[in-house]
Amino acid sequence: MKFIGAHVSASGGVFNAPKNAKKIGARAFALFVKNQRQWSAKPLDDETIKKFKDALEECEIAPKHILPHDSYLINLGHPDTAKREKSFNAFVDELKRCELLGLDKLNFHPGSHLKEISEEQCLELISNSMNEALKVTNGVKLVIENTAGQGSNLGYKFEHLAYLIENSIDKDRVGVCIDTCHLFVSGYDIRTKEAYDKTMQEFEEKIGFEYLLGMHLNDSKPELGSKKDRHECIGEGKIGLEAFRYIMNDERIDDIPMVLETIDDTIWDQEIELLYSLVEK
Ligand code: MN
Ligand code: MN
Ligand code: ZN
Repeated sequence: MKFIGAHVSASGGVFNAPKNAKKIGARAFALFVKNQRQWSAKPLDDETIKKFKDALEECEIAPKHILPHDSYLINLGHPDTAKREKSFNAFVDELKRCELLGLDKLNFHPGSHLKEISEEQCLELISNSMNEALKVTNGVKLVIENTAGQGSNLGYKFEHLAYLIENSIDKDRVGVCIDTCHLFVSGYDIRTKEAYDKTMQEFEEKIGFEYLLGMHLNDSKPELGSKKDRHECIGEGKIGLEAFRYIMNDERIDDIPMVLETIDDTIWDQEIELLYSLVEK
């Protein structure tokens, strides 16, 4: 069974996110557990936590179908030690927030080398940061997102994600989130059944579907392999609707949060309906 939703707003408090998800008919959702453009935020108080859990129960979405996204400021592979530590501390803070909210995953972008160190060196720094974070937190899984490969961002190849999993000290607490727009612009075609099968076979060989803990469903404005990160509404971009039909009927992708990050939040309810309509009986 598929669990589709969107990255909904948590403005005014995290407890507003479940309500916003319910409004659009979502069975899954993503949210920021603190302001994504600021380094720090006040700690979660007991009342906020209770309101969040109550709101979740009301919207009937299970914690495992929620995929929190970390702040855009965090770079676990930052070449500068002090700046990397700042990122690490913010990352750990977010993991602890997830824990307090009863959530079991945190989605993050691997990091960027900023053209100051090699890709290999940067991946090693990211891996070390992830392992240190695993040591000082409990339960919450680190969900690495594949990226578009824009600028110096790593994570645009399955090999990058595979390296981070292979070097993890706790493989039960790491996984990946595949963003379809990022997948496509980083050069993995999914537009025809043949292309989809080939890309997913490569995913299975290099990473494995047991590590797939979430998906971001986005069409793409730019072309295949362009390495430009610009999302488009489902079926309206260069990927097209057929790819989403393959995904919606792929049993290897069951029971994980699948989240829209498409550009027009006024039609998310329609996009969710459209995606469910693609499921073949
Ligand atoms: Mn992301
Ligand atoms: Mn994404
Ligand atoms: Zn993106």
